[in-house]
Amino acid sequence: MAQHSDLVDPLPLKTATVLLDTGSPQPLDYLIPPKDLSLALPGVRVQVPCRKKILTGTILAIKQGFTQTYAPSRLLPLAKILTDEPALTEDLLYMTHWIAEYYAVPLAKALKSLLPSPVRAKKVLQWGNAAEPQWSFVPSSPKTLNKEQRTAYSSIEQSLSKEQFAVHLLHGVTGSGKTEVYMHAIANVLQKNKSVIFMVPEISLTTQTLDRLRARFSCPYALVHHKLSTKTRCEMWKKIRSGQVPLILGARSAIFTPVPNLGLIIVDEEHDAAYKHGGDSPKYHARDLSIVRAKYNNAVCILGSATPSVESFQNAQKGKYSLHRLLKRATKAPLPDIEIVDMIREYQARGHGCLFSQNLLSKIKKNIEKGEKSLLFLNRRGYHTVAQCPHCAEPILCQNCSITLTHHKERQPNHSILLCHVCGFQQTTKSTCPSCNFQGDLIYKGVGTQKVERSLHAAIPEVTTLRLDADSAQDIEKQEKIIRDFRSGKADVLIGTQMLAKGLHFPQLTLVGIIDIDHALNIPDFRSGEFVFQLLTQVAGRAGRESLPGHVIIQTRMPNNPIIQMAARGDFESFFLQELSSRALFHFPPHQHLIKCTTISPNEHISLQTAKHFATLLVKHLPPSCVILPVSPAGHIKLRNKFYNHFLVKCPQSKQTSKKIYQTSQLLPKTKKVSLTIDVDPISTFFT
Ligand code: ADP
Ligand code: ZN
Repeated sequence: MAQHSDLVDPLPLKTATVLLDTGSPQPLDYLIPPKDLSLALPGVRVQVPCRKKILTGTILAIKQGFTQTYAPSRLLPLAKILTDEPALTEDLLYMTHWIAEYYAVPLAKALKSLLPSPVRAKKVLQWGNAAEPQWSFVPSSPKTLNKEQRTAYSSIEQSLSKEQFAVHLLHGVTGSGKTEVYMHAIANVLQKNKSVIFMVPEISLTTQTLDRLRARFSCPYALVHHKLSTKTRCEMWKKIRSGQVPLILGARSAIFTPVPNLGLIIVDEEHDAAYKHGGDSPKYHARDLSIVRAKYNNAVCILGSATPSVESFQNAQKGKYSLHRLLKRATKAPLPDIEIVDMIREYQARGHGCLFSQNLLSKIKKNIEKGEKSLLFLNRRGYHTVAQCPHCAEPILCQNCSITLTHHKERQPNHSILLCHVCGFQQTTKSTCPSCNFQGDLIYKGVGTQKVERSLHAAIPEVTTLRLDADSAQDIEKQEKIIRDFRSGKADVLIGTQMLAKGLHFPQLTLVGIIDIDHALNIPDFRSGEFVFQLLTQVAGRAGRESLPGHVIIQTRMPNNPIIQMAARGDFESFFLQELSSRALFHFPPHQHLIKCTTISPNEHISLQTAKHFATLLVKHLPPSCVILPVSPAGHIKLRNKFYNHFLVKCPQSKQTSKKIYQTSQLLPKTKKVSLTIDVDPISTFFT
């Protein structure tokens, strides 16, 4: 081996470690030609020669001199510098490594999730010369904080002035003025010429929050979400990278914006599952990444929610986060009172099933008379949720998925269809039963939002309604129109799904009816209770947000269910303690980490066998502190003609374990017939 002294060169020779977009999962070293020395920096996009081709990649690091394994004569030089400034900021380069390690993916895959596709393209990008944006908002003045808000803010202010990493959990009931606290913190950071990332779970449903931010801050801002066109995204990326935009608002992908000089990250509704990326690996959680990024930058992270996740609240209890409580609404409005209606009694009294209790119907009617607004919530869209053969009683399933087809009445006029909510497959209601070849009318069961709307019109002929669900609001514009129409008084009742739970504010809304939530409690997942508690609290929180008092009715066949009761009492504390102790029994998060391994194959047998084989391998390779649960079919075993089997690994430390799992996965025979995904901290343990 060459002596180090042999390699010392009089010229300031440097090498660049380059991660290729495709071609090699490992970073490769290249010589930096003297003319490029000043431009070759970590984060810069480059072209390099690799196996007789010219490939594109990103510089991860710059090294002085050479490693002992590569003499300079063996290194190839960089072919071309593509960007005149690093595409990635230093903290994003750090995040790339963190993501690769924690979420058990190759570096190239982690980098891919960070770089928007146009930046990945082979073009030479120029930035920094974009015209100064024009902003014409009239800034509104801040509100004087009340006592609870002040206490929270002064603690946040202390962290901000120390410029030291800290996480603040703002647990404030719906309407308690969390947004007002965020805005004080934002003002503080902007004044210091630092930048802010403000994240919301879903951009389209939070236009009001965004309007408020825009009205308060007259600085350039960017709205980042996954529905942007690639061109807009690329333009935006460049402006942000060059430091022209200090305020970033967006959904989960906003955490990857290359904003320099970051001082504050806000994660509003931090409990929301929309922060978890469910698509291609890495299956990252934007809340967790925001903490990683804030820490690297010595920045402050504020997590806010009326129903914090059990994990975050536990971290606050342990002292890892500072906890602030806002127990009262910021306006004079009291929290709504919540009433549970026993639907089994209701059926018994009436001698038949019904969708609306007498109590709910009469309150809706009273509201119409008073000119106040009502909201009806049901977490299922469509008309009927199940269509069944009257002869063999088999439900009609999708051709491509192990999912019952949903009956829809509105897709085409006067024509009802059966639709798969996963793959979009549809068929007429007139088909032959695939199980017994019976031909004739099907039996329909299970209620969706379309049927709630029809039934309400049947019960109250004069009622006017609007519906907000994935069918009525297929894009952002339609969603916003429905929300605007309801706010301007175009309907008495708004009927909708989960979309209604997220941050909406309607001044005249005084009644909320939960039609049915029972099915969600029956999903066999350790998070079902938490999900229902959050959903009930959030939907209920839409009622009576201004001067008029609000009322909430929860219809259920399980009136004694503790989750429903604690939600009705607004008792987060008891909910948290109960969850914590029941999860301790089974070593579920936050006590231990979970990693979910899923095998996916068009062949059912191969999917199952690979999962079993992999689980056996892991038994050998993981330490005894890790528990490997049995392989089982996923909640929907077949989706889009692929079969899903999975198993869970419980472990005290996810970082080491995910690394070991990834290494072990490399021992599986390479085949195109089956793929494996590793989901660290999965949201669902039942579904894929
Ligand atoms: P949250 O984000 O907790 O749901 P918001 O920040 O939206 O609550 O506040 C709810 C309502 O209370 C808004 O209409 C807001 O303008 C008002 N509000 C917030 N803080 C104050 C305050 N200190 N004084 C008066 N009104 C306030
Ligand atoms: Zn399907």
